[in-house]
Amino acid sequence: MRVALKECSWQTVGEDLVVVFDPRESITLADPEGKVEALLSVLHESPRSTPGLRTALAARGVTVTDEELESGLAGLAGLGLVECEQGRFTGDPAVDERHFSNLAFFGTFSDLDRHRTEFLSRVRDAHVLVLGVGGGGSSLVQCLAGLGAGRLTLLDHDRVETRNFARQFLYRHEDVGRSKVERAAAWVRAYDPDIEVRTVDRWVAGPEDLTDLTDGVDLMVGGLDGHPDAGLWVNEAAVRAGVPLVVGGATRTLLSYMSVDPGMSACLACEFSQRPEEGTGAAAAEDLVHGMRTTNPLIGPVAMQIGSLIALEGLRYLTGFQQPLAAGARIRLDLREGMAGSRIPFNKDPDCPVCALAPVRVPAA
Ligand SMILES: [Zn+2]
Repeated sequence: MRVALKECSWQTVGEDLVVVFDPRESITLADPEGKVEALLSVLHESPRSTPGLRTALAARGVTVTDEELESGLAGLAGLGLVECEQGRFTGDPAVDERHFSNLAFFGTFSDLDRHRTEFLSRVRDAHVLVLGVGGGGSSLVQCLAGLGAGRLTLLDHDRVETRNFARQFLYRHEDVGRSKVERAAAWVRAYDPDIEVRTVDRWVAGPEDLTDLTDGVDLMVGGLDGHPDAGLWVNEAAVRAGVPLVVGGATRTLLSYMSVDPGMSACLACEFSQRPEEGTGAAAAEDLVHGMRTTNPLIGPVAMQIGSLIALEGLRYLTGFQQPLAAGARIRLDLREGMAGSRIPFNKDPDCPVCALAPVRVPAA
């Protein structure tokens, strides 16, 4: 394996070396003999094997023992500064060009063992079930298409309406009156013909209306509207199938999203069960919120936030570039506070009848 240095900058300050990779933070390393600086410099010239590194360092008059080189590379790996050269690109010029920035993004999280190309493969091999291609869903579809998700199943029952144009940028005026899933699928196919798209034009009236759609699905995303319990139906279908779920939505002034890792994290039914004591004002308020129907105030800037945050959380499940951040927690963005965020975790209910449906899984090591 040849070790490649990621894009970073460094400067010697006295006996220290200050290195910047993520611009919001710097790393200070003790480097009294300049050996770390020399190691970074020869790696910056080109990716190298361990013997190649030793030769290049010797040419600079820097002698290192095998142990020093090994621990130096392990140190750089631990700081996320190096990765495997072969794992940076797929070798297919068309794929590498199409996914140029996707690969660069994964380069923030790659290392000697976790390759950018493996993250990308997981996305390109993934089958994502998109629940609703309206407000949040249409920008979600665009994000998933940009990431290059291999297969999309789009579920919705609505027709395109002129009132959708405040926020649903998949559609054109000529689409008014036509099936949303058909028009959304046409957009995806035109955008990237490599993405396989299936449409399901269906009104969902219970969790059983989703069971035939979860086979072979790696991720469920979005949110169905039309019934106060639609979120719980989706939750039940996802947990029963063992498919991770990311949902989100907005009230008048608050965006929120959360995810469910079936059998591992709390689910939406767990959250719902942790309601205030019956007969209290808080319980009444919760009931009122649950059943409340408002004129849809969702505008483009808000809808796109929901779609993009759901897509990013979904990407965590698909690739593992990070652990899911919203598993068993509701992440809220407050419009009144300039989208300031908060994370509200809730407990897994040991008696949750929905979590009991989850297939048995062994936690990843
Ligand atoms: Zn549960």
